[in-house]
Amino acid sequence: MTSVTVRGIEGREITVQTGLFIDNEFVPAQNGATLDVENPTTATHLATVSAAQKEDVDLAVQSAKKAFATWKKAEPSTRRELLNKLADIVERDGPVLASLEAIEGGFLYRDSLGLHVAQAVENLRYFAGWADKVDGTTMSIAQGLAYTRRQPIGVCAAIVPWNTLMIFFWKLAPAIAAGNTLIIKTAELTPLWGQKVGEMIREAGFPPGVVNILPGLGSVAGQALSEHDEVKKLAFTGSTATGRRIMQAAARSNLKKVSLELGGKGPSIVFDDADIENALLWTTIGITASNGQICAAGSRIYVQDTIYEKFLAEFSKRSRDAVHGDPLLPETTKGAVASSAQLDKILSYVEKGKSSGLRLLHGGEKLPGDGYFVANTAFADVGQSHSVMREEIFGPVASIASFSTEQEVIDKANDSDLGLNSAVFTNNVNRALRVSEALETGTVTVNCWGLVHANTSFGGMKQSGFGRDMGHEALDGWTVTKTVKYNLLN
Ligand code: NAD
Repeated sequence: MTSVTVRGIEGREITVQTGLFIDNEFVPAQNGATLDVENPTTATHLATVSAAQKEDVDLAVQSAKKAFATWKKAEPSTRRELLNKLADIVERDGPVLASLEAIEGGFLYRDSLGLHVAQAVENLRYFAGWADKVDGTTMSIAQGLAYTRRQPIGVCAAIVPWNTLMIFFWKLAPAIAAGNTLIIKTAELTPLWGQKVGEMIREAGFPPGVVNILPGLGSVAGQALSEHDEVKKLAFTGSTATGRRIMQAAARSNLKKVSLELGGKGPSIVFDDADIENALLWTTIGITASNGQICAAGSRIYVQDTIYEKFLAEFSKRSRDAVHGDPLLPETTKGAVASSAQLDKILSYVEKGKSSGLRLLHGGEKLPGDGYFVANTAFADVGQSHSVMREEIFGPVASIASFSTEQEVIDKANDSDLGLNSAVFTNNVNRALRVSEALETGTVTVNCWGLVHANTSFGGMKQSGFGRDMGHEALDGWTVTKTVKYNLLN
């Protein structure tokens, strides 16, 4: 068993196990494969961890299969208590997890601790509460009675992206509450916090094999999980392109249940009757928080023509100000983007916008420093067909346009293949309700953006995917309903 030591908040040393977490042990990949982890703030090497191969995925699946035989018979209260115990440990060690997410992902420490870790804890406690409430129904039939049982699916898997650690817990908490065993593949850019969670799972007292955590490449470990005949369900969060590959792999193999949480191109709509200060606050956060590396980013901003120029001036003034640097420092308001590939992708979209003559309000350049820093950027007067208006950039790039009527902006907002989330700013309640009804997105926020609550479901419409994280709907995706019909022979 090997480990690596890194420095987190206030220079504290954090020791992280580097092996694959299988059967409650950290073990190297069978062929010794590893992957390197980088610190995007300094563009330097941070750690090397094991990289799961096909044969390691097999081992993890066998561990989860063996564990399921007894885990499925455990008292629901046992699952509840273990999830609550894990929540306590995650809360206690929140600064460790937030430090790791900051140094390997570039996320601001305070965002990670205040939102990502906090939501991890919330989700664990919320689904702990569901563990003994996964109930069926009874029905009358002519022969007697029928009832339904919502049973665990069995050996399940999850593949998660580098943004953010809370997504890992959106999968783990309901999967385990429902009585499944789980293999989670963490993202290649950010495996370190997942390694720490492995230690926490063991400390909480989960039986070996109930949760296995595999760092590894998507094209190797992710592919092996997607194609595995003994994985009965796979929950995925990531890009639309990978989502398609996973569905194809599921179809080629055992037709496993698949749920997909994919990308977004979220419209934020500002009517002239809105509280403009509030709209400015949320639209700015919506595209600059975590450098726009959020599936729910409010990356398309539509502003009513009567307030358009005034809004642009204020939006630009507020969103260009950022102190970039070390995400562990309290004065930093902007971290690096997650990787050099991510930086190049963002800058290439900015170049497309500039070269096609779009009006650049601010930003558009790489910021000084060795790390992957990019300026908050906004283009105005962007047409519906422009790539910066249509494609998910996953960076701090706002595409802004004006509109005059309610129907016009509904049509523009819905003119997208994606449908994850949207935001509406207005003080007219009837308008807020009408527009919320009309928008083709899985979530609509009114007079705010991006709020996360463990008891409200989250997921997409259209090519943003299907299935739900969080909320009681999430449990449906981790159970299978069995109907039993009983002939009373009377
Ligand atoms: P990605 O699709 O490249 O990677 C996501 C995960 O899939 C990683 O763990 C990766 O290793 C794995 N993967 C890659 N190729 C694979 C393959 N062939 N088979 C199986 N697994 C494979 O996405 P990313 O760049 O890590 O994340 C950014 C994307 O995720 C964005 O599109 C964003 O919108 C989306 N996202 C969606 C949500 C949501 O809840 N809807 C949340 C966060 C991120």
